[in-house]
Amino acid sequence: MMTFKDLGLSEELLKAVTAMGFEKPSEIQEKSIPPLLDTERDYVGLAQTGTGKTAAFGLPMIQQIDVDYRAIQGLILCPTRELCIQIAKEMTQYSKYSEGVNIVAVYGGASISDQVRAIKSGANIIVGTPGRTLDLIGRKALKFDSVSKVVLDEADEMLNMGFKEDINDILESTPAFKRTWLFSATMPREVERIASNYMEDPIKVTVGTKNSSAANIEHKFCLVNGRDKYFALKRFIDHYPGLFGIVFCRTRRDTQEVASKLMNDGYNADALHGDLSQGQRDTVMGKFRKKTIQLLVATDVAARGIDVDDVTHVFHYDLPDEIESYTHRSGRTARAGKSGISIALIAPAKSGKIKLVEKKIGKSLELVKAPSGQDICGMQLMKLIKNVNEVEVNEKGIAPFVAQIHESLQDYSKEELIERFVSVEFNRFLKAYEKAGDINVDPSRMRKGRDNESSGRRRTGETNTNRVFINVGKMDGFENKGQLLGFICNQAGIDGGSVGKIDLFDSFSFMGVDEGVGERLISAMNGKNIEDRDIRVEFSQDKPKGERGGGGGRSRGGDRGRRRDGNERGRRNSERSSGGGNRNFRERRKRR
Ligand code: AMP
Repeated sequence: MMTFKDLGLSEELLKAVTAMGFEKPSEIQEKSIPPLLDTERDYVGLAQTGTGKTAAFGLPMIQQIDVDYRAIQGLILCPTRELCIQIAKEMTQYSKYSEGVNIVAVYGGASISDQVRAIKSGANIIVGTPGRTLDLIGRKALKFDSVSKVVLDEADEMLNMGFKEDINDILESTPAFKRTWLFSATMPREVERIASNYMEDPIKVTVGTKNSSAANIEHKFCLVNGRDKYFALKRFIDHYPGLFGIVFCRTRRDTQEVASKLMNDGYNADALHGDLSQGQRDTVMGKFRKKTIQLLVATDVAARGIDVDDVTHVFHYDLPDEIESYTHRSGRTARAGKSGISIALIAPAKSGKIKLVEKKIGKSLELVKAPSGQDICGMQLMKLIKNVNEVEVNEKGIAPFVAQIHESLQDYSKEELIERFVSVEFNRFLKAYEKAGDINVDPSRMRKGRDNESSGRRRTGETNTNRVFINVGKMDGFENKGQLLGFICNQAGIDGGSVGKIDLFDSFSFMGVDEGVGERLISAMNGKNIEDRDIRVEFSQDKPKGERGGGGGRSRGGDRGRRRDGNERGRRNSERSSGGGNRNFRERRKRR
């Protein structure tokens, strides 16, 4: 069995990993640490989250810091603030005994002056999100002239979130002679392009299969009508008494709604989405980490980078718009060698997406039924009996009450007593499920071959994923559809031929778009302004029925400053907006 010592780590680092309770290196650590410590070559590591990636790059980076040289020598870029905080925290633990190693996290949504102060106090490793990092470069608070190692962590996610330009700008501010270590769960073409643009003959290490999800995740889906999704979710939760899970929703609205319903129904749940302040998000995450909440209901963006061990279940209340996110979502379970279950709740009309997921992860999704009332009651009853068998009786504590208890219960037989005690705990389940019917949809209603979405081209605007809502309309001066089309094409750099039917209303509009164009519009338009108001583009929820159509209207100015989940650029811009320094940086760079 390979040990951490065999990998060539210093005594200080060995002491730190032992203190953290790591017994042996994970596969990615075994394969990565020796080359990252030894060779001068660049490196590409394909591994899921939860495989021990942070230590795989963090330990060699820490070991190679020259603590006598007071300058930033290592830079780690990652997509979200949560991941940024998490990596910095983990790295700080690894460097506990490595004196002089100073790790500073820089990310949006937190005081920039505090971060500048921390950098000035002698940072030699920076962990940053691209937006804030660029901002600090623009303010001259960050200088990367001495950086010798750059890590691009979750590179696929950073590109998905529209950070490509920022990454390019940041990398250009680092010396040509440096080593670049790229980690990614998947290897889409854009990541390969980054690898070929910025790396020279990198060593390639793959853990698991390319684009696949962890082997120890069971992937399932349940076919239910949209209106029954919430009930199906509750049934699964009730069916697994020890469940500790994350429920992913597509929009912030759904996230808040599902979390509120669960809380109202007495579940220990909370919501995590971008409409919450950073403080609120930290509080929710803190509760989830401590397991004081059992269910975290989250959007993809907010939950990226969440690293909480022991998550048993991941639910997809809806499948994500970007199939790649499925891998990231499911990767929140089965971490650190454990196993986990991923369950997608799918309405028949959306079942075509299953094939796309299967193709992406290289595995089949197993069709499972939402548990029946009887299944749930049986499961809960068995849990109760198990608890009764395993409970430690505090004889001393209950001694003063025993006589009174015996007296009050003396008229019951043993059988009656068992029934009564079980009923105290159990009646709520019996009541909840006494009239519960079968909510499962007959699989014959699935889209034929589960592959309609991938086979051939659909008519533009036929479904929600190629129909988008935009919060601009006639009130913004667009007298006809042609004017709106011209504006969109100009702003987003798309071809007019990729837009189909346009419905232009007073304060908002809908557009049918070709496959993939919706995502481009969302990332290009969100964050832009019209008459000082934030433009908001999102996939349509419903087909329009006059002015009350889906997607939601707006009151003038009402969206100002608000950001949407589908709007990664908006998030990024707000990360930047605290300074504006990066814009100066860009302009300066252009002039050079
Ligand atoms: P990561 O993939 O870096 O996010 O790590 C996932 C989780 O596994 C974190 O909680 C790490 O602290 C933990 N971990 C990393 N390496 C090991 C190891 N060799 N043994 C046990 N746990 C580990």
